[in-house]
Amino acid sequence: MKVDFYRHSLAKDDADAVARVLDSAFLTTGKVSQGVEEQLAAYFDVPHALLCSSWTSGATAVLLALGIGAGDEVIVPAMTFIASANVVELLGAKAVLVDVDPHTLLMTSANVAAALTPRTRAVIPVHLYGQMVDVAELRKCLDEYAQANPEAGRRIAIVEDCAHCFEGKLRGVRPGADADAAVFSFYATKNVTCGEGGGMIFRDSDLYEAVRETRLHGMSAIAAERFSGGGYNHWDMRRLGVKANLPDLLAALLPDQISSIDQRLPQRQELADTYRRAFNQTPLRQPEMIDDCLSAWHLFAIGVEARNRDEAVRRLNQAGVSVTVNYRALPDLTYYGEKYPDAAAACPVSVEWGRQTISLPFYPGMPKEHQLHVIDTAMSQLVPLAVAD
Ligand SMILES: *Cc1c(COP(=O)(O)O)cnc(C)c1O
Repeated sequence: MKVDFYRHSLAKDDADAVARVLDSAFLTTGKVSQGVEEQLAAYFDVPHALLCSSWTSGATAVLLALGIGAGDEVIVPAMTFIASANVVELLGAKAVLVDVDPHTLLMTSANVAAALTPRTRAVIPVHLYGQMVDVAELRKCLDEYAQANPEAGRRIAIVEDCAHCFEGKLRGVRPGADADAAVFSFYATKNVTCGEGGGMIFRDSDLYEAVRETRLHGMSAIAAERFSGGGYNHWDMRRLGVKANLPDLLAALLPDQISSIDQRLPQRQELADTYRRAFNQTPLRQPEMIDDCLSAWHLFAIGVEARNRDEAVRRLNQAGVSVTVNYRALPDLTYYGEKYPDAAAACPVSVEWGRQTISLPFYPGMPKEHQLHVIDTAMSQLVPLAVAD
């Protein structure tokens, strides 16, 4: 049996939405994107939303708008996808890697508090696998630091990495409620996707206005506005920006997915429950579930003994099961390991999980018999590899 890791669920109706954009005169960021931005703002109950061409380009635009650059520090968990830290390094700032909680694998306020310095300008909490970091608690922790260290000056911003968590909630609250900005990815494998793309939400109007510019070269008006009112309008450039806008051609794929995302979550929950029930009494490791957190269940990750992980991947592949690793911890990658040689010792939980973990096939619509085959293979082939000596 051949078991795919992931399959998207875009269909003929979505092709029709793209065709309607092709029929119009306007292919890039315009009315369709604006409609999706309004839809995003309503879904997350925030005043402002913007689309972007990827999480990475959007987060870069946000950090630029926050004025982050050389000499600044931004705190990032060591257990995440490289993009979360790369955006910081690309701007010449320093990605300060902190460890995650050994049970939930999420960034903790305590570890952030220990890493704060007068150079800290922002924190990027990552809602790994779909469970949410307690951003409200993090905000409190940053405010306490600011109060105790008035000489540190500027307020420390929170930019949530919501690439794994669109539809999740913590204590009934969706992402973005306690952050300066929350950034989503609509990359091909994410819960909401348009192939490549992303979204950003804001509560603060000034930051939103600044990101509108840093998202598009720093220009003071988008293309649709430059030609509004029947003629050409001049634009200005007040700050440096990147090219991070999303064209309507891709934005057209989003409205139906956003309006149906909450209805698709039970399918992810059912797959996750089936895996969890099967593995609960085994030595296979699983992240702990947080009370009162509705996980967006982006990925389903398990862990075996670190020295056996690659053998476990080989056995799954041999049984026709496609898997990935999310993620080897940042200090275990050459760039971060060489640049920050102390990070591995400072982040033992992240490093260990990064050496143990395997992500199993997991997507709405995954055939039942495929999941049973993955479970059978894991029970017979992986359980012995999960036993510690
Ligand atoms: C996918 C992902 C990103 C990057 O998203 P892009 O849209 O591909 O730039 C960032 N952070 C995490 C945690 C991700 O999983």
